[in-house]
Amino acid sequence: MSDMRVTELFGCMVFDDATMKEKLPKETYRLLQRTMKNGKHLDLAVANVVANAMKDWAIEKGATHFTHWFQPLTGITAEKHDSFISPLEDGRVIMEFSGKELVQGEPDASSFPSGGLRATFEARGYTAWDPTSYAFIKEGTLCIPTAFCSFGGEALDKKTPLLRSMECINKQALRVLRAFGKTDVGAVRTTVGAEQEYFLVDKALYDRRRDLIYTGRNLFGAKPPKGQELDDHYFGSIKPRVAAFMKELDVELWKLGILAKTEHNEAAPAQHELAPIFSTTNLATDHNQLTMEIMQKVAKRHDMVCLLHEKPFKGVNGSGKHNNWSLSTDTGINLLEPGETPAENAQFLLFLTAVLRAVDEYQDLLRISVASAGNDHRLGAHEAPPAVVSMFLGDELTAILEAVENDAAYDSKEKELLRIGVHILPKFPKDTTDRNRTSPFAFTGNKFEFRMLGSSASISDANVVLNTAVAQVLREYADALESSDNFEQTLHELIRTTIRNHKHIIFNGNGYDDAWIREATQKRGLLNLRTTPDALPHLLSEKNIRLFTENRVFSETEMRSRFEIMMENYCKVVNIEVLTMVEMVRKQIIPAVSRYTQQLAQTAAAKRAVLKTVDLSVEVDLIERLSALNSQAYIKVQTLDKLADDLKHLDTFEAQAYSYRDDVIPAMEDLRTIVDEMETLTAEDAWPVPAYGELLFGIR
Ligand code: ADP
Ligand code: MG
Repeated sequence: MSDMRVTELFGCMVFDDATMKEKLPKETYRLLQRTMKNGKHLDLAVANVVANAMKDWAIEKGATHFTHWFQPLTGITAEKHDSFISPLEDGRVIMEFSGKELVQGEPDASSFPSGGLRATFEARGYTAWDPTSYAFIKEGTLCIPTAFCSFGGEALDKKTPLLRSMECINKQALRVLRAFGKTDVGAVRTTVGAEQEYFLVDKALYDRRRDLIYTGRNLFGAKPPKGQELDDHYFGSIKPRVAAFMKELDVELWKLGILAKTEHNEAAPAQHELAPIFSTTNLATDHNQLTMEIMQKVAKRHDMVCLLHEKPFKGVNGSGKHNNWSLSTDTGINLLEPGETPAENAQFLLFLTAVLRAVDEYQDLLRISVASAGNDHRLGAHEAPPAVVSMFLGDELTAILEAVENDAAYDSKEKELLRIGVHILPKFPKDTTDRNRTSPFAFTGNKFEFRMLGSSASISDANVVLNTAVAQVLREYADALESSDNFEQTLHELIRTTIRNHKHIIFNGNGYDDAWIREATQKRGLLNLRTTPDALPHLLSEKNIRLFTENRVFSETEMRSRFEIMMENYCKVVNIEVLTMVEMVRKQIIPAVSRYTQQLAQTAAAKRAVLKTVDLSVEVDLIERLSALNSQAYIKVQTLDKLADDLKHLDTFEAQAYSYRDDVIPAMEDLRTIVDEMETLTAEDAWPVPAYGELLFGIR
């Protein structure tokens, strides 16, 4: 595709700023801009004009329907399509779309999780347009990005708290900047670039694995002779079928104004990554949701399936999402970019240490924000990153912070003290090379990269926590700076004290070394919340309820409902996995192994019938071992089935979750070990499902 085509294509399905300017009357455009920039109320008369222009534009592009596109707590996006048609008295129809339909909707949404927030008799929530995210056309439907709330105003989605958290950090960061005398800044926004990892497998092979179909991951599967140990896939040349997929994916994303930038192979065979150019957090979130959806659709067109599960293959790297995060002003300044002057440096260090403190004080919340049954297989397994939250700053920056903390010289040659606000920071090399890929939270030169997110998750939760936690620290900083009569002194003390109190979370070494986990938990007192049920109860600690309620990001009721939903979701996911395992073992694996041993027995009998001296050791040995394993599998399945059934009587999802974690998951592992061993002993054509090797290397 030529450059010209791409520039024309980009954003062609988005009612973006340029389109609005073109299609809206000047005054309407100005009023809408005001709403978007300052969150001012949008007049219904203005909304009517906008809606009409949007509809005309959408119809021109072939759209026939519209939908309020929202992000319920299931983590995926929801839409209910209405057509534009409106009947006329003479039996004909016209195409209509009113301001009211644009601004507010009432999906019949009683089946979305609300964690008890909404009784069924008041099942209807309402959706409200988020004018800071552009409307777009997807598959003939005009999609209006919206927030989803109950009639009591409680958030039932992932967008509402995100918008609240952005507003919150904007307010506190502005206070800090004002204290620095920055009066030209009108707004501070958090920016996010979410790198997305995924696997591609052949559709025909996928269709033969019920575990992939029902759970998104392989519940069984012996390791193939070759995995990722040669590192020959990472950034390797891309296979033609995958290249064709990536090319089409880019085009589809570009049409929606999504800045897909780089596509490359990842560490594991069949694993790939897409990185977008960063944007404001709520846009980045909308765009990541769309990216995941479109990846799956485009893969199907190429007879492949895109696996977004965090751990599709045991023994092979899982998939995550890297949430690159920074703060930037509407004057175009990145607040996490080291500056050139003493004052800029001081400001940079203050924002940097704010993140340091936020990550330390709210490490539990960061862990919770990425907690799911799927992601438990990555975090805490022998894989980057671990479940322990720590921060990578690089040796140079760490040394600078030490010098600041101790009022000592950074560079021994210069013998100069590093005085905040007086001295220029020594130049330190930017660590943009991803040298430390094991850190859960890494400073990469002018942004932080939070790497614990699971590949299938919405990035909203992680950013809600990050924004709110950093905002809370900035609020305290602003309080101190505003009431100080010696700005320089207070600033210096804030930075020093923060470094002293929170440096224990800085770790520049290998994050998945066992020695680190021991040091982190035993010497440094950091949390190691290995599983979702371990992590979730921390959500409701007094400290965390205070954080969210005081910053008005969540009410306590909303937090409790989210706790319930996450526990319930964990239970449901593991339960589906159990049922799938049971079904596969009973209906596919045990019968297949029986048939194979029968075949072996027939072979043995045939040999005996025709040979004088017979060596039946192969058949006898295999029959013995497979029969023994098959019996064990049978018994394990009964146990597993019963365990999963019994725990249903526990009356809270929390209690059930602990039982899944302590009893059910270990029983699943046991069953898997048995089945995987049978797989290694059974003839390839007798095994009922495609093997790992085929799935991982099946796309050529
Ligand atoms: P690196 O070399 O550290 O990987 P890249 O420039 O390749 O950095 O960026 C990696 C990801 O980080 C991309 O998605 C990019 O858009 C995003 N990113 C870059 N700068 C920022 C920023 N200021 N805020 C948020 N995300 C950013
Ligand atoms: Mg990265």
